Amino acid sequence: MTKFYIYTFGCKVNQYESQLISEKYKKDNFVHVETPEEADIIIFNSCTLTKQADKECQYFLRKASKFPNNPKIILTGCLAKNKNIDIKQNLKNENIIIVQDKTTLFPEHTKQTITSFDKRSRAFLKIQDGCDSFCSYCIVPYVRNILWSKPDNEVISEITNLVINGYAEIVLTGIHIGKYNGGCSNLLNKIIKIPLEFRVRISSIEINEIDNKLIELMQNYPEKICHHLHIPLQSGNDDILKYMNRKYLTKTFEEKIKHITNILPDLALTTDIITGFPGENQEHHKETCNFIKQNPFSRLHVFRYSDRSGTKASSFINKVPQNIIKSRAKDLFEIDLEKRKEFINKNIGKKRKTVKIGKDKVLTDNYITIITDTTKISKKIFEVIVPENAGI
Ligand code: SF4
Repeated sequence: MTKFYIYTFGCKVNQYESQLISEKYKKDNFVHVETPEEADIIIFNSCTLTKQADKECQYFLRKASKFPNNPKIILTGCLAKNKNIDIKQNLKNENIIIVQDKTTLFPEHTKQTITSFDKRSRAFLKIQDGCDSFCSYCIVPYVRNILWSKPDNEVISEITNLVINGYAEIVLTGIHIGKYNGGCSNLLNKIIKIPLEFRVRISSIEINEIDNKLIELMQNYPEKICHHLHIPLQSGNDDILKYMNRKYLTKTFEEKIKHITNILPDLALTTDIITGFPGENQEHHKETCNFIKQNPFSRLHVFRYSDRSGTKASSFINKVPQNIIKSRAKDLFEIDLEKRKEFINKNIGKKRKTVKIGKDKVLTDNYITIITDTTKISKKIFEVIVPENAGI
């Protein structure tokens, strides 16, 4: 029997697509193995969002190509599609097969649905693919340029199958889910009507793509839609936002999140920040820090600007030196810690609806992780009081 192993790098969409590939291989009677050394076929489902992501993938590719059993290596995903990187040249390995069109590895090209999510307690579900926003720093629109939305009836039946198979939380993912055909809120309006015990979480959504209907649905169906929104801010300075080709101003961002958190006061509001974007000076950085401090964020994902050849920002001349980027990231990590503490303190003693994410761990609807023994709990969704040692 042919044994296979999948390395997955990057975002939730890639994790979902690895599951699609895995289900296809299993259907074809291939056996999944726990370590790459045992495999006859190794699939690299890659990411190329940052230089670090490229390096990491190439490191494991190099390692795998030296395995004594000489496995067949397939490289797919965003790194395989990034025309600016010559993998064959970099690795000098002829045995790597590059598959640019990942869908050829899926069960059926047109239907992308999974029935489980290996080794995860929550299932990610891809509802959308592609981005045409061209934020100036981002390589994604060059490697995932075709906008695609999963038909809503397929989303509904996929959720139904996953819930029947035991999943209590489904995380709706996409490359740019605000571009979901027909709008996310229309889709959610159908999802909440599925008569099963489960909840959904929206993985990441742009500020301009949150409409009143979505907020209203979150308010009226808290048991079905988690009170958590991940809204990328990227910078707290309007000039930098403009150079990033982000399509909002800090003022509109602030007004909108205040409006949302007035309606949903227990909301976990997480965000992404890029520090060290070309042209960012100390004043811009300070503005970003102050903006975050003054607004109700509960957690930050801090990214150091990573130059991607072929993007608009890559041609900007005023690059920020690495030591400055590092020190700004440090400031932001400190603020992140404060924001997390603030959010947890606000929630201590409150009852929240949770799902199991391990034998001794649960996750609240508003993204708080709590250590507690779950072995005797049979319910899929149950209430837990947030203790002092909770985390986000
Ligand atoms: S919205 Fe901007 S950051 Fe997000 S994938 Fe599209 S181009 Fe990249």
